[in-house]
Amino acid sequence: MLKRRSLIKAMAATGFGGSLMATLPGCSLNGTKGSSDAARVVVIGGGFGGASVAKYLKRFDNTVDVTLIEPKKSYMTCPGSNWYLAGLVDAKTITHSYDSLRDKHGVNIIHSTVSMVSPAAKQVTLNDGRVLDYDKLVVSPGIEFKYDAIEGYSEDVIEQIPHAYKAGPQTEILYKQIREMPQGGTFIMCPPGNPFRCPPGPYERVSMIADYFKRNNPTAKIIILDAKDKFSKQGLFQEGWKALYGDMIQWISASAGGKVSHIDAKTKTVYTDFGQYKADVLNIIPPQKAGNIAFAAGLTNDAGWCPVDQQTFESTIHPDIHVVGDSSIAGKMPKSGHSAASQGKMCAASIVAKLNGYTIPTAKNVNTCYSLVGADYGISVAAVYQLVDGSIVPVKGAGGVSPTGADASFRKNEANYAHGWYKSITMDLWNS
Ligand SMILES: Cc1cc2nc3c(=O)[nH]c(=O)nc-3n(C[C@H](O)[C@H](O)[C@H](O)COP(=O)(O)OP(=O)(O)OC[C@H]3O[C@@H](n4cnc5c(N)ncnc54)[C@H](O)[C@@H]3O)c2cc1C
Repeated sequence: MLKRRSLIKAMAATGFGGSLMATLPGCSLNGTKGSSDAARVVVIGGGFGGASVAKYLKRFDNTVDVTLIEPKKSYMTCPGSNWYLAGLVDAKTITHSYDSLRDKHGVNIIHSTVSMVSPAAKQVTLNDGRVLDYDKLVVSPGIEFKYDAIEGYSEDVIEQIPHAYKAGPQTEILYKQIREMPQGGTFIMCPPGNPFRCPPGPYERVSMIADYFKRNNPTAKIIILDAKDKFSKQGLFQEGWKALYGDMIQWISASAGGKVSHIDAKTKTVYTDFGQYKADVLNIIPPQKAGNIAFAAGLTNDAGWCPVDQQTFESTIHPDIHVVGDSSIAGKMPKSGHSAASQGKMCAASIVAKLNGYTIPTAKNVNTCYSLVGADYGISVAAVYQLVDGSIVPVKGAGGVSPTGADASFRKNEANYAHGWYKSITMDLWNS
């Protein structure tokens, strides 16, 4: 069992030190647990939430037996995938292996899919039939799409009309379609209503596609048919679009006729209450819900997301199962990779505290979302979150958004910070 001093040192490095020391005065860690009776934690999903939990469980208490289950051998991140669409980074830069988690941190990695969770038996079943016992289970499966929410769209047509909102083969399809679009053609994106993964994600994507078109297809048009009347960092995006791309990007809000009523997948025609739009390349981002396994495990509410204790991320439906990342309902935190990683650390700290019988630490969660509007034009939003009356709420005065009207060097610096943010978070989770 981890020595108290080492635990505090490990947690201090991740921001939990102060609060932990305040909450640990009477903790007893006697270092007697052998490997045969080590606590077993199974983590479902090796994305931002799952990789964070797995790594920090081992950092906080190396004696815990941590098994991460993830079907993919390497993980292409959604952050950076818009930059890839523009050709600003290559696929290798945004793809990470699990070698470091396994070899440096001692996480058992199983490349498989969990098909069933039995909360009563405390077991998970893999799709190859293997059954694993757990003492604590962490579920971080990301999102699933509500394909049937848009008439005419379905999972059957995603190779022709990609969402590209889970990075990987879908990103490659959109990458190719953009490059094959006829000169002067029309790219249409249909973003979903709230809540959804990465609120600025669709708008960074059109920015990056505009960046590509400006260089390679300058008469192309981009139309956004939105299910919302406003979006994240709207003023900043629109200021950047005007400055960099003139009139190339047209945003149509829901109330101005942007809400999609149905589509004709064959002709890539989108119908709204106000008219119809024919696309050469159509990118539909459907409404979302928690990952399928969260439903199979009975962890979701009527809205399709997972209610959790806001301090520990333990499910309020099934004890000893924690949910982090996009699938969870985490107060005011947006569904982002940075949020998921922050929640993962908090969740790991809570599990280690619970296993060792000391007070659960209260940590601050953080989120930063950088977006590139152009290759040298970055904007950002950041917030620190604390627990107030059982809810995760922003700390007033901490964080904020980039100013409007900033000069080119300010935007360039933010673009550089965006790349720096990406390097540091992926280094933390997969590569160090
Ligand atoms: C275009 C785009 C741009 C984005 N940009 C940013 C950004 O700049 N900054 C930012 O912070 N966030 C960004 N995000 C959001 C970020 O990608 C997500 O919020 C983050 O990935 C959520 O982490 P997660 O662990 O919940 O899910 P994921 O990262 O999706 O990981 C879930 C993992 O679980 C696995 N899985 C699912 N079901 C099972 C199962 N049954 N068994 C085993 N494994 C399973 C999946 O294979 C997957 O690897 C962006 C998203 C998009 C789409």
